[in-house]
Amino acid sequence: MAWDFSTEPEFQEKLDWMQNFLSEEILPLETLVEELNGQQWRALTAPLKQEVKNRGLWACHLDPELGGQGYGQVKLALMHEILGRSFIAPAIFGNAAPDSGNAELLAIGGNEKQKRKWLTPLLNGELRSAFSMTEPDVAGSDPTLIQTQAVLDGDEYVISGHKWFTSNGSVADFLIVMAVTNPEVHPYQGCSMLVVPTDTPGVEIVRDVANMHHPYDAPFARQPAGHAEIRYNDARVSKANLIGQPGDGFVLAQKRLGPGRIHHAMRWIGQARRAFDMMCERALSRYAHGSLLSEKQMIQDFIASTKIEIEATKMLCMYAAWHMDTYGSSASRVEIAMIKVYATKMLFNAIDRAIQVHGALGYTTDLPLEEMYRVARASRILDGADEVHKVTIARKTLKEYEAVTGWPSEHVPTRRQAAWEKFADLLEPGVVNG
Ligand SMILES: Cc1cc2nc3c(=O)[nH]c(=O)nc-3n(C[C@H](O)[C@H](O)[C@H](O)COP(=O)(O)OP(=O)(O)OC[C@H]3O[C@@H](n4cnc5c(N)ncnc54)[C@H](O)[C@@H]3O)c2cc1C
Repeated sequence: MAWDFSTEPEFQEKLDWMQNFLSEEILPLETLVEELNGQQWRALTAPLKQEVKNRGLWACHLDPELGGQGYGQVKLALMHEILGRSFIAPAIFGNAAPDSGNAELLAIGGNEKQKRKWLTPLLNGELRSAFSMTEPDVAGSDPTLIQTQAVLDGDEYVISGHKWFTSNGSVADFLIVMAVTNPEVHPYQGCSMLVVPTDTPGVEIVRDVANMHHPYDAPFARQPAGHAEIRYNDARVSKANLIGQPGDGFVLAQKRLGPGRIHHAMRWIGQARRAFDMMCERALSRYAHGSLLSEKQMIQDFIASTKIEIEATKMLCMYAAWHMDTYGSSASRVEIAMIKVYATKMLFNAIDRAIQVHGALGYTTDLPLEEMYRVARASRILDGADEVHKVTIARKTLKEYEAVTGWPSEHVPTRRQAAWEKFADLLEPGVVNG
């Protein structure tokens, strides 16, 4: 029997160190982010990143043979829960999206030359990257509709298309672009991924799209930075920039997005815990109508419900992480989809209740809650809308069932009749007839 909820002591030590590092070094820095320029940000974070590297905790999401630390998803889950408390912590630990997913993609699909050129500097934090798949003109939920084309011309691909929500696009050194390379076949076989350096002629960064998180300009230190709208105007890249083989785009996308989704869910648990801590502190501190808020049953309901939801999410997340470590990312699509959907709801509830308990203060920018709330809204859309994940869960789950003709298999009169027949030999005729 191997049902074990404990963390091995050596790893717990690392987690304890991370927790302390977050409280002492990262959370204070967080309050300055809005006012720092790029140079100041680098000056303040370089020593912190070095400290993380010295501890062997930098870019832990990759296997050792791929250039990382070799922690599986279970360990990463525990780490991300801590880092998720702060929006800036993942960047200081070298595992911020979208760079982390892109590194994973290059590690899985890139050849040696590509790894040397892009993966190694990405892992070292010397380059930034973006993933350019979603297009404004077609539903991102159905990537078979992708219109961007990459046409082979001699030794080069010529890319033309229109993307948006390329997170980090405007600050990235290179973009990983999903494009149709063979329109003659189904997109599952006809799409490919290409590395496109951002300074390639024809790559036009139109704007960072203003949004709920960054209604105006995104501060430099935010990771991801803005979500860029990009036009590819016959941008030419060497065919050596193709990741994997022509037509590998969808397989690679699945491999990239699976781990990325669960890492988000892990961080959302950390975010929710932060909101929960704030809610509890306030409930114990605020007095109204003859008692503290913490003594009112409705507030106790908030606290109990939030605690249950956080812990339930953690269980589901650890299960999905274990499933991925045991069976791999492709065999864990349902588990990943379940945690993605469940965690978004939990996160939203936790922050919403924390705002409510703080009253007007919760609505102000004097607390981090309002930003957390705005960011949390995106979680139901990014990395696949919740509805689409539910479709995956339902479709795959229904494959385990079969239709029946006639009465449902639980139909009691039918089952009763069958039971009489099954046990007839054991019953006295008088009792059966009686
Ligand atoms: C903060 C943020 C960061 C992002 N970063 C990136 C990035 O770095 N790179 C990138 O390429 N993209 C990125 N995206 C885009 C994201 O992947 C897409 O927004 C997402 O896939 C949904 O696509 P869409 O916006 O075109 O919505 P649509 O596909 O138009 O869907 C709209 C709505 O339709 C409904 N819907 C769709 N399909 C179904 C269905 N089968 N059943 C029921 N309802 C359905 C859902 O409610 C969905 O929300 C980001 C998005 C956000 C918000």
